[in-house]
Amino acid sequence: MSEDCIFCQIVAGDIPSRTVYEDDDVLAFLDANPLAPGHTLVIPKAHHETLGDLPTDAGASVFETLHRLTPVIETAVDADASNVAFNNGEAAGQEVPHVHGHVIPRFDGDGGGPIHAIAGARPDLSDDELDDIAARIADDA
Ligand code: 5GP
Ligand code: ZN
Repeated sequence: MSEDCIFCQIVAGDIPSRTVYEDDDVLAFLDANPLAPGHTLVIPKAHHETLGDLPTDAGASVFETLHRLTPVIETAVDADASNVAFNNGEAAGQEVPHVHGHVIPRFDGDGGGPIHAIAGARPDLSDDELDDIAARIADDA
């Protein structure tokens, strides 16, 4: 536990939350400032800041919970779809430095955008640059 982490305090029960699922490794609860009805956060109980910091087992538990809860959440609020996403690091908009996946229910005509809308201007990358990027990722994958 990280003493000054809001989500660790929720895990510890020191801050109340509307918990929708809990097991030994994972907690899921409603976002306090929802972007849509049913907006849910899924977190590992252990404190890790970003996906890169998360041990494999904890990452698997978080994804398993996201996978199982997403259709349950959609049904509960009668959503047409959902965005499932992580703000992974401060530059990507992560405000709470404890890994959390967002499940944001979506509704036909809700005025929101796709995940493609969150980044800045599209980069103009040459074929060589794309090949180089792919190779660098593949080398460590
Ligand atoms: P981030 O920008 O870090 O990806 O998202 C953090 C999310 O946590 C925000 O959507 C915010 O509304 C939510 N949040 C922040 N503090 C609390 C809290 O104390 N309780 C709950 N349930 N959600 C919180
Ligand atoms: Zn924490």
